[in-house]
Amino acid sequence: MSAESPDLLVVGASFAGCACAIRAAQLGLKVRLIERKRDVGTRIHTTGILVCDAINSNHFLQNIPSGLTRRIETIRLFSPDLHEVVLRSPGYYFLATDTPNLMRWLVAQASAAGVDVRLGTAFTGARAISGGIELPGQTRAHFLVGADGPQSSVARTFGLSPVRHFLFGVEHELAQTKVPDANALYCFLTRRHARGYIGWAFQGTHAVQAGTAMRYRAAQGRAHALPDASGFFRHIAPVLPFDGAHKSAVRAGLIPCGGLVEKFAGPRVLLVGDAAGLVSPVTAGGIHMAWKHGWHMGEAIAGYLLRGAVDPGEVARRTYTRFAFKRLLRWGYDYFQYDWIFNALLHTRAMRAAAQEVYFHRRG
Ligand SMILES: Cc1cc2nc3c(=O)[nH]c(=O)nc-3n(C[C@H](O)[C@H](O)[C@H](O)COP(=O)(O)OP(=O)(O)OC[C@H]3O[C@@H](n4cnc5c(N)ncnc54)[C@H](O)[C@@H]3O)c2cc1C
Repeated sequence: MSAESPDLLVVGASFAGCACAIRAAQLGLKVRLIERKRDVGTRIHTTGILVCDAINSNHFLQNIPSGLTRRIETIRLFSPDLHEVVLRSPGYYFLATDTPNLMRWLVAQASAAGVDVRLGTAFTGARAISGGIELPGQTRAHFLVGADGPQSSVARTFGLSPVRHFLFGVEHELAQTKVPDANALYCFLTRRHARGYIGWAFQGTHAVQAGTAMRYRAAQGRAHALPDASGFFRHIAPVLPFDGAHKSAVRAGLIPCGGLVEKFAGPRVLLVGDAAGLVSPVTAGGIHMAWKHGWHMGEAIAGYLLRGAVDPGEVARRTYTRFAFKRLLRWGYDYFQYDWIFNALLHTRAMRAAAQEVYFHRRG
């Protein structure tokens, strides 16, 4: 490898890629981070809500400037016939984020940690060479991380497993409107408008964010799964009268929901975050997992390249979350999400306890 070649090349400068690159650079690796977008604050495809577990378990995230977040402590969960259950868990909170500027902040942190960040640079292919990988015409590296999201080109290039099970989420930013309870995440169970998931709305840092996600079956095509935002807004109008509110921006994309992919590592290549399917099949939250495992894999790769420690693929096999129970819940929800069940049972103790578990992880 030449003197300019990085030790580690990371593809994708979102949560998983930034975490991995920052941690590996902190531990002494020469890291390059490539990202196809010229500005990571554009074409945002996430609601951007952070759970407090992510903040509490990683000191780095505690440095996020307070102006980029706002705290949400209550869940207002609505049955399909719009009856409400209010859920709270002392000490537990969610952070709504100014996501475009959070992404820009993360990339700035990577640069500050010594990562060679190359925006506007797409990964288009690579090949294995002795002791590493080569991106023809670009560079060589001792290790490659695919943090390039749910339709990973790195996975395709190296014969790793693709993500096969998805939800498709669409969210609108609604300027010039407010939700009555700015401290709440409003969640709506409705098979018609959010089959396989929920609809949601909350006061974001700059606008109300409201959307739905549905089960996406590749064979039936994206159009089949596209949530009907107008229909959803009409459905929730008795609670949140958004009809006619100006839609100022849209965030949309595929969300892995089938758990960890089978083959997520090869010789000197590893997938993290959405590329590896590390998203909760129940909540569809992936930011915490992307950050946690990205950070940990940055450590593992540094240990491997600098001290000959265990192969990072092996570390990943031991530590990546498999979501066995949550995959079972996902299966149940896919097949038994009937509105009458939630209309009849949402107020019961058992259902409240289940909801408390899903939102607050047993801290009810
Ligand atoms: C509508 C929606 C709402 C969501 N809301 C939440 C939420 O509120 N909370 C939560 O925890 N999770 C949420 N998720 C899931 C969460 O966004 C993802 O799990 C998380 O973003 C995964 O991070 P990542 O770094 O693995 O991948 P991504 O965020 O997908 O980032 C991949 C990056 O790789 C880049 N890239 C892709 N291909 C290439 C290439 N060939 N070359 C170079 N760069 C490339 C992309 O531009 C992108 O920057 C949501 C998802 C969707 C779709």
